[in-house]
Amino acid sequence: GESIRIGIAGYGNLGRGVEAAVAKNRDMQLVGVFTRRNPAELATLHAETSVNTMDDLAAHEDRIDVLILCGGSKEDLPQQGPVMAARFNTVDSFDTHARIPEYFETVDAPARAARKTALISAGWDPGMFSINRVYGEALLPDGDTYTFWGRGLSQGHSDAIRRVPGVAAGVQYTLPSEAAIEQVRNGSRPQLETRQKHTRECFVVLADGADPASVREAIVTMPHYFDQYDTEVHFITADELARDHSAMPHGGMTIRSGNTSDDHAQVIEYGLTLESNPEFTASVLVAYARAVHRLNQQGQFGAVTVFDVPPGLLSPKSAAQLRAELL
Ligand code: NDP
Repeated sequence: GESIRIGIAGYGNLGRGVEAAVAKNRDMQLVGVFTRRNPAELATLHAETSVNTMDDLAAHEDRIDVLILCGGSKEDLPQQGPVMAARFNTVDSFDTHARIPEYFETVDAPARAARKTALISAGWDPGMFSINRVYGEALLPDGDTYTFWGRGLSQGHSDAIRRVPGVAAGVQYTLPSEAAIEQVRNGSRPQLETRQKHTRECFVVLADGADPASVREAIVTMPHYFDQYDTEVHFITADELARDHSAMPHGGMTIRSGNTSDDHAQVIEYGLTLESNPEFTASVLVAYARAVHRLNQQGQFGAVTVFDVPPGLLSPKSAAQLRAELL
C-alpha cells in the first residue's frame, strides 16, 4: 500500500525520537517537523528533514495522515491536543495520569466533530505498562498489581534538585528495590510502603563555596520529592556529570500476582530496560500512528487510548501474515 505520512509537532527529545523511529519503519514517510521556534535554528537528526513553523501546518492538512504531538504534558498538550485533533489524526504521550480522563474529553469532542481519530497517552507509562496492567487484572481477578520504575532518570526530580541553593547542576535516578521485586515475584502479594518500593540516587555538582552537608540535608528532606524515600547524594564534578550522566535511561516493570485457586499462585511480568526513554517512547508512538491511520480509515472517530486498539493494527504485517507467523 501507500506509505503512511507522518508529521511531528514539537521538536524536543521525543520529537527527535520520532524522527529516528519513522526511519526504522518502511511503510512510513516523514513529511516534516513543525515547531513554535524559528525553523532556521533547529538542527535535525537527518539533514534532509523538512523543518516548518506550526503555522505551516495549515498548508499540510491533506498531506499528513497522522500528526504525532511531541509537546510536554504540562503546558503544551492541554493546549495543542484539542486544537490539533480538530485538524489531524493525532497520537500523543500525555502522561499526567490524574488528568487523563479530563484530557480525553477535551480531545474527544473536536476529533469526533472533524471525523478524526486522536490516540492519547501512548508511550510506556502510560502506554505499554497500562496494557499490561489491564491484562493482569482481567486474567487474574484475585490478585495485586505492582509497578516498579527504574533504574531511570527522572526529569521532575532532577529539576527539583537543581532548584536547591548551592546546587550548580545535577541529575536524579529512581531505583526499584530488588528486595521488594523478589517478594512480589515469589507470589506472596506483599503490602509495600512507598519507601520499600523505590530508592533515589542523586549526582550533584556543587556551586562555588556551597556546603555539601547542608545541600545533602536540603535534598533528602525535600517534601514529596525525597522525604518519603531513602535517598543517596553523590557529589561529582561538572566534567563527570557531562561524561557519565547525559543519557536518558529508564525502564521498569509491571507485575500481576494472583491466585487461581487456594493451591496456586500465578505471576505475570512485563519489563523494560531502556537506554533512551524518549527514543523508546517515540517508537511506541510511531507504531500507534499506524494503528490510528487504520482506525480512522475504518471510521472510528474521536479520542481513543491504547485500550481501544487491537494489537494487530500496530503491526505493518497483514492479519493473515500475523496468524501464520506469530500466533
Ligand atoms: P522536551 O522538553 O524535550 O520538549 C517539549 C517541547 O518543548 C517540544 O515539543 C518543543 O516544542 C519544546 N522544546 C524542546 N526543546 C526546546 C528548547 N531547547 N528550547 C525551547 N523549546 C524547546 O520534552 P520531551 O520531548 O522530553 O518530552 C515530551 C513529553 O513526553 C513529556 O512532557 C512527557 O509528558 C511525555 N513522555 C511520556 C512518556 C510515556 O511513557 N507516556 C515517556 C516519556 C515522555 P517546539 O519545537 O514547538 O518549540
